[in-house]
Amino acid sequence: MARTPLMAGNWKMNLDHVEATGLVQKLAWTLDDLKYDPSKSEAAVIVPFTDIRTVQTLIEGDKLPLAFGAQDVSLHASGAYTGEISAAMLAKLNCSYVVVGHSERRDYHGETDEIVNSKAKVVQAAGMTPIVCVGEKLDVRKAGEHVPFVLAQVDKVLAGLSADEVGALVIAYEPVWAIGTGEVATPEDAQEVCGAIRGRVAELVGQAAADAVRIQYGGSAKSSNIVELMAQPDVDGGLVGGASLDAAEFAKIVTFYQ
Ligand code: PEP
Repeated sequence: MARTPLMAGNWKMNLDHVEATGLVQKLAWTLDDLKYDPSKSEAAVIVPFTDIRTVQTLIEGDKLPLAFGAQDVSLHASGAYTGEISAAMLAKLNCSYVVVGHSERRDYHGETDEIVNSKAKVVQAAGMTPIVCVGEKLDVRKAGEHVPFVLAQVDKVLAGLSADEVGALVIAYEPVWAIGTGEVATPEDAQEVCGAIRGRVAELVGQAAADAVRIQYGGSAKSSNIVELMAQPDVDGGLVGGASLDAAEFAKIVTFYQ
């Protein structure tokens, strides 16, 4: 089955809403110059909550070929959860994607696989697509345990989801040792784990969902390594941090197919 690759730029806690306007405009101009074809690769910006309304207005107003989304979501629907943002609020802003379980949320905010699983469910229930992050730390990789470790995460973060729900979401394999470090996994490393994830999805909910689910690689992806990563049969895009803050660089990543 043909899966349209998804290149999602995770801005993390960077760019206020004024700076966001500048980056989105420059990204759109650069994609236009590069004759970007959205049927070959989907581009999304995953922005801080405070930027969403601005980015939405710009993308929808100017009909830019970009999707947008959020970096996290509350587990709760509404109420006394000071500082949190609900899935309904994000859906109301027309977010397409919500990242759940990024390693920085797991490390600094104690998010467990069970929380990530619940967040994936609230995102889908609100009509958006979760980008569900998994990935091992360096000690696990060094011990050669990365495949079973990531598959155990996959079992937990997908628990209770139907075949259709799993087929419709995005899984981001992000080896934690490669995030923001400049250490990129080799294409073979990325394929080994992304292929294993697809195999596990087939075991869990069937081959049709495994064929449909998009599996991204994330971890120091840039224009100089994206082509080799994307040549791997089970890598369906990238979750891109640092390199997505440079419009020209991210545009090259999005148009990797050229
Ligand atoms: C990320 O934030 O998900 C990420 C992969 O970051 P970087 O590309 O900077 O390693």
